[in-house]
Amino acid sequence: MFCQRMDRVRALMVGEGVDVLLLSVGADLPYFCGYEAMPLERLTMLVVPREDHARLIVPRLEAPRVVERPDVFEILTWDETDDPIELARGLIGAASVAAIGDHTWAGFLVDLMGVLPSVEFRRASELTSPLRQIKDAAEVESLRAAAAAADRVAAALQAGDIPLVGRTEAQVSAELGRRLLAEGHQRVNFAIVAAGANAASPHHEPGERVIRPGEVVLCDFGGTLAGTGGVGYCSDITRCVHLGDPPPELTDAYEVLFEAQAAQVAASVAGQPCQEVDRVGRAMITEAGFGDNFIHRTGHGIGTEAHEDPYIVEGNLRELRPGHAFSIEPGIYLPGRWGLRLEDIVVAGVDAPDNLTTADHHLALIDA
Ligand code: ZN
Ligand code: ZN
Ligand code: ZN
Repeated sequence: MFCQRMDRVRALMVGEGVDVLLLSVGADLPYFCGYEAMPLERLTMLVVPREDHARLIVPRLEAPRVVERPDVFEILTWDETDDPIELARGLIGAASVAAIGDHTWAGFLVDLMGVLPSVEFRRASELTSPLRQIKDAAEVESLRAAAAAADRVAAALQAGDIPLVGRTEAQVSAELGRRLLAEGHQRVNFAIVAAGANAASPHHEPGERVIRPGEVVLCDFGGTLAGTGGVGYCSDITRCVHLGDPPPELTDAYEVLFEAQAAQVAASVAGQPCQEVDRVGRAMITEAGFGDNFIHRTGHGIGTEAHEDPYIVEGNLRELRPGHAFSIEPGIYLPGRWGLRLEDIVVAGVDAPDNLTTADHHLALIDA
């Protein structure tokens, strides 16, 4: 698998005139070699020349973490008193164009530019994103497993199994996190819990606010679950519950959101430009009078990263292809009052979308 990915990126390097690919911290490195660099101050860098074999520069004390894959890369360790930039410079050699991982610490890029003044540096994502954003069958199954685990937590929330009234948002957030782990995630990436007017802030930070009867509670949570190649894949789901009977204006707005989100999921098929998927739902929400209350893009790609290409946003003309995996998460936010969002993870198919999220899509009503 890693050999295949390496072959494919090398083919792109030929087409793009890139001599060497440099990957450090971030999601590109594990995608191509199965190793995730520690996001610390010591340099880890996979150097992939277009024609020569790849070498992984790694601090000696972190080398024991590396799963050796001699068919993919050679390991080159450096000691505390060595200069890893010098090591990298030696491997980059006579390259004139280098593509460097977008998440590489800026400090290392500045140092490399200093010792390699004639090398032109480009963003590695120009090469890695086109490969990473199309998920193969094993990756889709990894995303499906992560989505299913998050679904089970959402189902518990919707069934009223997670106490809400009288608890703080932070307490509920912690419980969502514990449940994500209990359902098999290795890591919790976020667990937004926003009650009442706080739900009008899409990325609300759960706090000491106590949840009361008569309120809507928006929960948006996800984590990372071990997947194909030993690399983790992300889940991400948003569901809203209402404590007691909701006022008609909220039920009506939810109905608009529900229909818009379903239309966007249905539009997630190959050949459809990303912006078109955004427009389909935005038009319906605007038609209902909430155009100014849908204040963010429709969604983001998802894979080994919680947010990656492709972005489902106005202006993104990229056409969906089978294997594109992304969120569909429109929202309606009324500042000072309430907010609603509904989020699924969808994989574009040839003529039908594969919706990985199966938790009930309705506004769950919980006795309070
Ligand atoms: Zn978000
Ligand atoms: Zn989310
Ligand atoms: Zn999301």
